[in-house]
Amino acid sequence: MKKAHPEADNPHGEAAVAETGAGNGATDDSDLADRESRWNHALVGSGLGVWDHNFRLGRKFYSRTWKTMRGMAPDEEAAGDYDAWLQLVHPDDRDFVVHAIERQNVGDPDFQIFQYRERHRDGHWIWIDCRGACVEWDESGMPTRIVGTDTDITARKEAEETLARLSRRLDLALEISRIGVFEADIDNDTVEWDDRLIAIYGLKGAAHQIASDAWAKSLHPEDRERVLGLSDRSVESGSDFQQEYRIIRGDGAERVIRARSAFFVDGNGHRKLIGANWDVTAEVALRNELQRARDLAEARNRELEAAKESIERLALHDYLTDLPNRRYLDKMLDERSSECRAKGLGLAVLHIDLDRFKQINDTLGHRAGDAMLKHAASVLRNSVRAADFVARIGGDEFVILCTVDPGSKKIAGLAQRIIRELRKPVRYEGHDCRFGASIGIAIDSGPKLDAKQTLLDADIALYRAKGLGRNRFEFFSAAARRDIISAKHLADEILIGLERNEFVPFYQLQFDARTLDVTGVETLARWQHPVHGLLTPDRFLDIAEDLDVVSTIDALILERALADRRAWIKDGLSVPKISVNVSARRLADPDLGKKLRALKITPGTISFELLESISLDDCDEAVAANLKKLRKLGIDIQIDDFGTGHASIVSLLRLSPKTLKIDRELIRMLPQSAEQRKLVGSIIDIGRSLDILVIAEGVETADHIRILEELDCDTLQGYALARPMPAMQIPSFIRGGSWRHGQIAARALQTHLRRALRSRGAK
Ligand code: C2E
Ligand code: CA
Ligand code: CA
Repeated sequence: MKKAHPEADNPHGEAAVAETGAGNGATDDSDLADRESRWNHALVGSGLGVWDHNFRLGRKFYSRTWKTMRGMAPDEEAAGDYDAWLQLVHPDDRDFVVHAIERQNVGDPDFQIFQYRERHRDGHWIWIDCRGACVEWDESGMPTRIVGTDTDITARKEAEETLARLSRRLDLALEISRIGVFEADIDNDTVEWDDRLIAIYGLKGAAHQIASDAWAKSLHPEDRERVLGLSDRSVESGSDFQQEYRIIRGDGAERVIRARSAFFVDGNGHRKLIGANWDVTAEVALRNELQRARDLAEARNRELEAAKESIERLALHDYLTDLPNRRYLDKMLDERSSECRAKGLGLAVLHIDLDRFKQINDTLGHRAGDAMLKHAASVLRNSVRAADFVARIGGDEFVILCTVDPGSKKIAGLAQRIIRELRKPVRYEGHDCRFGASIGIAIDSGPKLDAKQTLLDADIALYRAKGLGRNRFEFFSAAARRDIISAKHLADEILIGLERNEFVPFYQLQFDARTLDVTGVETLARWQHPVHGLLTPDRFLDIAEDLDVVSTIDALILERALADRRAWIKDGLSVPKISVNVSARRLADPDLGKKLRALKITPGTISFELLESISLDDCDEAVAANLKKLRKLGIDIQIDDFGTGHASIVSLLRLSPKTLKIDRELIRMLPQSAEQRKLVGSIIDIGRSLDILVIAEGVETADHIRILEELDCDTLQGYALARPMPAMQIPSFIRGGSWRHGQIAARALQTHLRRALRSRGAK
């Protein structure tokens, strides 16, 4: 600095001679030189620029360093012109500097040290730290000599400036982010909080130097123990602390705080914790909300997943037995066949059908039926290996899929076991329920394995097993398939044949056993097949039964018979009584009465032949009602094939038949078997006693005629007398009377005459 006093130039030029006191007295020269040199070095080393304003002597001194810090040459003369110097002072500092110098000059201790900016020779500003003190005064107490040092503190000022800038920036950042900061001296047990932290904790009016337990007290009681424990541990281990916890603010509000703090040891060896807290209540609430939403969504997803699973399960399983169902089987057929193709294994398909199940259902009710199905399901499940697949695919039908070594027939053992188990009676509400099972088996393997076809093959084998008498298993064979295919073909043809009226009645005449007069005629269905010619019922009746068209055939045969009868009458023929065969299904048809009434049948002209096996014991209400209607319409009832079924005489009587037809199996052996003769004889006797006519079927020989006549049979039917023939042949056949001629007739006549003589002799 330049003092506002004129002053002589530094006589030494180098460094200041610091005269520490005017009254020290003189010393010798070498001593002085020594001191001066020491001072010079110390001053140069310390970077202090010395100045000495001696007003009394009018001398001003400026050291080399004083000059160099201002960019002057060390040996340059310092003019010491106050006003010129003042121009170098920063305009903003100028007033202050003038005032400060004034105060320093009068010895004001407050202005012993001050700082200001001065222009360097290069043009930039330097900061100068000016320290000065009055060292001599005049008699009136006015300072006469002031000595001091200038220090270039530009670097320090810049550092301070940078620091201030940084701390302003930090402060701004903290302000914006609302982060509160604290510093705790653990060893001194002091804590300092900034305003923001105080605001966060809602401790209005608290001093920065805060009570050391203020924080612990603010912690939410439920979090306190955990958080304090963690904080203690981080102090103990000197590690950083990072937590989230709840506090109860000074105003009672609950907030969530996120805290981070770092541990360090300061220059004094004090353990310290510096940290930041911020209020994350909103963020946590949002996070919790999101988490809740996510949890909810996940729970819903799980529910949906479970629902989907159970729907899928329901869709693929049978509700009653819990076995896989048809749909599942279809899926499994695909899976298993590709598995077998890949591994070179064989696929065995067992198609199982319960025998007699329908009867149990009908007689004991559906609950019993359900119980049997469950039983069957568990038998099947227990009979197979874990890897096998069991499904229920319909009412009483099941399918098992097994993988087997190609060519193995081991599966027969499984089928046998199942049949054996299912034959055992099952107890249900006091009843022993008996059913059984028929099983069709098909096995296939190789690259062309087609499980769907194998299932069809098993179905064909099942059909054969049932046809061969049930309670058995059959392996699929190509022949069986051919049969099935031709049956299928035939079925189609039957339906077409019905449309084209290819079914026609043939008539077989019946004769009085004594006189051989025509007494009646049985209609027998024939199929005039366009390719195969005339077909008898054994070629088509079973399939027609499967197709459920036998009733239709019966009905059209009856209609044709009625028409033929009218034609015969017109032809002047004494028309015999006509009998038609009636299927079980037709007899149970609730509309039968109505249909018959529409035909306007003359009472006493038609009789219905019912098979002994179908018409008796299990006579349900519809059948009973129909039988009653038949009697009302004047239609007689004949029991067909008598002696083959097991009808009791009592139940027979309930039908009140007009006629019994003895089956031709019983007639066939009459000539050879005395026993047979006895049996037929007693049937005839019973009939007589009950006023029921007896017809013998299958009368093929003159012996048959003779024996039956002897046994007192009423009517004869058979090839020996007449074969079934078309309607148009009947009039000429009757008129021709050929059955009376020839050997057979002669012998019959003989017998007749013998008996006539015998009876006359007896009289
Ligand atoms: P069925 O009612 O017992 O008929 C008598 C069968 O014995 C007839 O066979 C007839 O041709 C045959 N026959 C007659 N005399 C003799 C003989 O001296 N010796 C032998 N061995 N057989 C003789 P068909 O016409 O083949 O009929 C077979 C069965 O078909 C009938 O047995 C009957 O149960 C059934 N049927 C025939 N036509 C009809 C029909 O229109 N409706 C129904 N539902 N069934 C019918
Ligand atoms: Ca018959
Ligand atoms: Ca018969």
